[in-house]
Amino acid sequence: MKLGQMWKASMVLALAVSLVTACGTKDNTNQAAQPQGGAPADTASSGSKTIDDIKKRGKLVAGVKYDTKLFGLKDPASGNVEGFDIDMAKAIAKKVLGDENKLELKEVTSKTRIPMLQNGEIDIIIATMTINEERKQQVDFTDVYFKAGQSLLVKKGSPIQSINDLKKGTKVLTVKGSTSAQNIRAKAPDATVLEFENYQDAFTALKAGQGDALTTDNAILYGMTKQDPNYAVVGGTFTDEPYGMAVRKGDSGFLKVVNDMLKEMQSNGEYDKMYEKWIGEKPSK
Ligand code: GLU
Repeated sequence: MKLGQMWKASMVLALAVSLVTACGTKDNTNQAAQPQGGAPADTASSGSKTIDDIKKRGKLVAGVKYDTKLFGLKDPASGNVEGFDIDMAKAIAKKVLGDENKLELKEVTSKTRIPMLQNGEIDIIIATMTINEERKQQVDFTDVYFKAGQSLLVKKGSPIQSINDLKKGTKVLTVKGSTSAQNIRAKAPDATVLEFENYQDAFTALKAGQGDALTTDNAILYGMTKQDPNYAVVGGTFTDEPYGMAVRKGDSGFLKVVNDMLKEMQSNGEYDKMYEKWIGEKPSK
């Protein structure tokens, strides 16, 4: 199936989004916001400590990936971080503070994101994170904002074409703290699984011949094929990976603000715009 079709098929998001503001998603100014002078005008308590803190400090601190093309990738030359998750962070900054640039990005990995949220280093996780029961014990998730599924990336011409080819002796690369690592152990128990700190390290290892395949969400793997067209996503998806943003447990005030924003973005077309910008085709309704 072609990339666009695959996205389409997997994208039946009941999600929503709408930048109340036409936020200039074309620019890549993802740098931390300049410290803003003065407190925002509205100093009344929001009922959410996180929102109060964001307003007091004048910026949202979002935990995002720096290793994931299309969702959150740092360009080492410019220092800019860009992707779908980054634009989502800008939209929240705009919603809460009226300015998408009142945003500080902090790098998280699959392994560090929940601890960093819990210890207060970040206000929210926006990092290709699958909603699941285990994680729901530790964080509160927003509504689904993207639907992915786990798949395989191989060098073009590889004999591995599906999960059934991951027999004894094959090496599969993935990332620590991801559902991808858990799932592949369960679904290909004979394969040897090697875990890396982040997706760029895993991809570098694949290219260096340290493994036969790399496994994670198709969304992330498609980003890698854009980085190196000698690699291809094969075999379709073998899990559902619905992405949610995550806030600290019990932070219902902040959760509601983000969920309301998602609904607005869906109804005013902003979500589709963001989707087209990063994924290339509009999700089917
Ligand atoms: N969506 C999967 C997860 O949340 C894989 C991508 C990632 O590691 O962030 O674990």
